[in-house]
Amino acid sequence: MAANRNLLILPGDGIGPEVMGEVKRVINWMDGNRAVSFDVDEDLVGGCAYDAHGAPIADATMDKALKADAVLLGAVGGKKWESLPFEDQPERGLLRLRKDMELFANLRPAIVFDALAEASTLKTDLVAGLDILIIRELTGGVYFGEPRGITDLPNGERRGVNTQVYDTYEIVRIGRIAFELAAKRGGRLCSVEKANVMESGVLWREEMTKLHTDYPDIELSHMYADNCAMQLVRAPKQFDVIVTDNLFGDLLSDCAAMLTGSLGMLPSASLGAADETGRRKALYEPVHGSAPDIAGENKANPLATILSYAMMLRYSFDLGDEADLLENAVKSVLDKGLRTPDIMQDGKELISTTDMGQAVVDEMAALAK
Ligand code: NAD
Repeated sequence: MAANRNLLILPGDGIGPEVMGEVKRVINWMDGNRAVSFDVDEDLVGGCAYDAHGAPIADATMDKALKADAVLLGAVGGKKWESLPFEDQPERGLLRLRKDMELFANLRPAIVFDALAEASTLKTDLVAGLDILIIRELTGGVYFGEPRGITDLPNGERRGVNTQVYDTYEIVRIGRIAFELAAKRGGRLCSVEKANVMESGVLWREEMTKLHTDYPDIELSHMYADNCAMQLVRAPKQFDVIVTDNLFGDLLSDCAAMLTGSLGMLPSASLGAADETGRRKALYEPVHGSAPDIAGENKANPLATILSYAMMLRYSFDLGDEADLLENAVKSVLDKGLRTPDIMQDGKELISTTDMGQAVVDEMAALAK
């Protein structure tokens, strides 16, 4: 079927191709059963791209990524390429994608499926049913601000400097994404900074407050980042969507990830600016790496990548019903007690990567009846 939706798949290295194989199973099912089709192209990134082209991402692949409606990536890296020069390292392919696509908004959901609530290090009742979204500014702030560096002082000491800097346009563009996504979810947005001690935080809070007038239906709150860290482990279900800067987002999204207890379950998305047609460049990928220790053994958990694909359906293609169906199928498979080794629990049924992919497809078919 003619699709008009261009999807570039970059499986990458290690378990990347294995988990992506299960996404392809889902894509094929949706094509055949839901009339949801994509023009799918596939290419290399990471170590495999270096082996083929002498670079962790070829220029031609980069061009395809810039033209695609969405890019879905597996994972990159592995022992084989560890001694390559810095610029040729597999991760540089991923960093180039993020940079050239100007992906300034990183979306990290932390969802706890009831069946896995016991895997969290927090008490089950604190996290069961958790569904929050952390939106982190990805291209500005203290990781990029100037001046930066280490200098020698006349007194023989050394000084390390990094600069936290945000211009209004950077705050406004991530703020808009946050308000828009809050509107597609529970309608509550918490903006996080340190306005009590940082001028960049004061500006962040002022700009978010101004933006709020464009989104009167959203409930906006403000919180200091240190309090947010505390609240995330005290009562995480109080949040719906959190938006914050690069540094605080780095810390808070990892903290939220651990509430879920499993790396193999965590999806992510990175979004860029909208063009005149409203289309945003977008990269979807699991949070985990290429897991060389289990690569090729049909043991990897494909659910993080499958859930990244569900995010793509929702955020790049407005296919909310299909995203719901897929997420509900994942929930149902877990409720039935099927587990890959990384999420195995007593009394549950241990299955392989491919069996997990097939189980999700079977469950979609059952739920769609
Ligand atoms: P990793 O995420 O690959 O693995 C950490 C641990 O989690 C391993 O024990 C692994 O077996 C397990 N794990 C990860 N994903 C899993 C899954 N889907 N199912 C079951 N178990 C899973 O991190 P690492 O070991 O620090 O790094 C391995 C390689 O991946 C390195 O080359 C690193 O640079 C690269 N890496 C890539 C990305 C990326 O592509 N986005 C992210 C992190 C690390």
